[in-house]
Amino acid sequence: MPVITFPHMGYVYIALKSIFKTLGGEVVVPPRPNKNTITLASKYAPELVCLPLKINLGNFIEAINLGANLIVTGGGEGPCRYGYYGEIQRRILKDLGYDFDLVMVNQTKGIEIIKKFKYITKTKSTWDTLKALYFGWNKMKLIELAEDNLRASRPFEMVEGESERVFLKILQEIDNMKILKEIKDFSGYINESFSKINIEKKDGYLKIAIVGEVFMVLEPFVNFNIEKRLAEMGIFVDRTVKITNWLKRVWLFDSEARSEIKMIKELAKPYLKEHIGGEGIYSIGQSILSKARGYDGVIQIAPFTCMPEIVAYSIFPKVMQKEKIPVLSLFLDEHSVETGIMTRVEAFVDLIKRQGKNKHQ
Ligand code: SF4
Repeated sequence: MPVITFPHMGYVYIALKSIFKTLGGEVVVPPRPNKNTITLASKYAPELVCLPLKINLGNFIEAINLGANLIVTGGGEGPCRYGYYGEIQRRILKDLGYDFDLVMVNQTKGIEIIKKFKYITKTKSTWDTLKALYFGWNKMKLIELAEDNLRASRPFEMVEGESERVFLKILQEIDNMKILKEIKDFSGYINESFSKINIEKKDGYLKIAIVGEVFMVLEPFVNFNIEKRLAEMGIFVDRTVKITNWLKRVWLFDSEARSEIKMIKELAKPYLKEHIGGEGIYSIGQSILSKARGYDGVIQIAPFTCMPEIVAYSIFPKVMQKEKIPVLSLFLDEHSVETGIMTRVEAFVDLIKRQGKNKHQ
């Protein structure tokens, strides 16, 4: 019987674990990315590959050492390096002598996803697979709703740490859900739990949007928990990258998602006409949209050597000049040091404050 593992990225593991377990699979969730993950990653991954590939690789080694023997990962489609991600990881791990199977799921192909999940869990029923995927999808939506509430509450909370306590409790409850029925009405419970937190919004608080490469934006360990750090400065943060939006975008099954994508691409068009892989075009479009939505600045987060984000970075000076929105670009790798990064973030916040475009009622 395969023991399944997968990459860690924010809280996505809760949804993935749930899908595999619902289908009767045994799962090893890798430890949250940590110093040991980075040490393993730096030792075995090629120096100049993207940080997400390295962190995933380190996590896979940790999971195999905990008993996993089937890795499920994304990939198989470019145009950036994401297309051959899984294959590189497979070869490195095989060269290291690990005994495992690796299944690469191309998230752009709906039918393939169902087939691969059936293969992974040895489930014969398409209906059961669809139900499990639907369950995981709904858990992910609840997680994102909780994250939205956390972001709205944390910068203004009267009791330090209260929003995070509520958030972690809710996450645990979502993680514990075993059947679809438990999800019903849970979004109301999430909103209600956060509404009980005492908050005080001061006039003139800053609003910053975070754009960039999906893994770097979603995984707090690699981005030095930037959302929390900004909230501690009293700044409202919006994260433009979400897993459900990302999947809606590739599957295009939702008319709201379709029109939003169209709008974002239109906004980016004067600067970048084509999809160049990753989030590149969305980083540009979302930054312009954030300005229209009243944000004071944008922080772009990406791994060192990420091609689509480097293209976006080279375009940002024009965007800043024409759209009048300040952008700070943070390119991170395993050598990045938190103090240095946070000094740059604080300087950026000071700059926005000085520009005096920070008045929100
Ligand atoms: S988007 Fe960037 S980090 Fe992600 S695989 Fe492509 S090049 Fe690497």
